[in-house]
Amino acid sequence: MSQIKSVLLWENQRRYIREAIDAGTLRGAIIPTGSTEQHNEHLAMIHDTASALHVSRLAAQKLFPEVIVTTPLAIGVSEHWMDHKGTLTLRAEVFGQVLYDVADSLRRHGIENVLIINGHAGNAGPVHERLEGFREQLGINLDFHSYWEAYSPELVQEQMETGRCPGHAAEFETAFAWAAFPENVDWDGVDYDNAKLTISNPQQAEDDRMYHHDAKVATAEKGQAMIDVAVDWVAEQMQEMMG
Ligand SMILES: [Zn+2]
Repeated sequence: MSQIKSVLLWENQRRYIREAIDAGTLRGAIIPTGSTEQHNEHLAMIHDTASALHVSRLAAQKLFPEVIVTTPLAIGVSEHWMDHKGTLTLRAEVFGQVLYDVADSLRRHGIENVLIINGHAGNAGPVHERLEGFREQLGINLDFHSYWEAYSPELVQEQMETGRCPGHAAEFETAFAWAAFPENVDWDGVDYDNAKLTISNPQQAEDDRMYHHDAKVATAEKGQAMIDVAVDWVAEQMQEMMG
């Protein structure tokens, strides 16, 4: 049977990908997009990339062996967090071009259903501005969603004690991390009030403090409930794209 070995593109040898495309068993791809940016005092900077990849991988496993997940775009458009040391950012233009080239690589190999699954809010605007142009140029089935579009206001009210989702490194993202990769949550030695923060925007400074407190009520249980909904929803979007 000619099929992929793993839903993660980079774990396959070339023969699995070649044979799966040639046999028509591999029909779609998910490109996860995230960031490497500050996630308050307790969450690892890779969160947006890791969460988008996590949802993408589990969704692709539901559709095995029809869908592959590409290497994630681990640096996004994060200019708004450059007050925090460690944040990496791409110009919107550059991010768009890299994303385009990844989608074009898939097209050139004959994969014509490409779903971009995003985990960083700052990427959404730049992609929406370009998506229609990309579709015209590529001539393939191309779509873009942030995975939290899966969540209804009712679900958020039911699961999130703070009622806020996604927020930033707040209850939702912290709950996600507790469920999926608890090693990324580190409260050891966090002393928010004495941290030498340099946040130039007063509103951002206020939100940052609120999110810090929000994050403390996060649990793995709530995180898992939210992950499950996102995975089902992403798998559905991909299934619809493939007809
Ligand atoms: Zn985030």
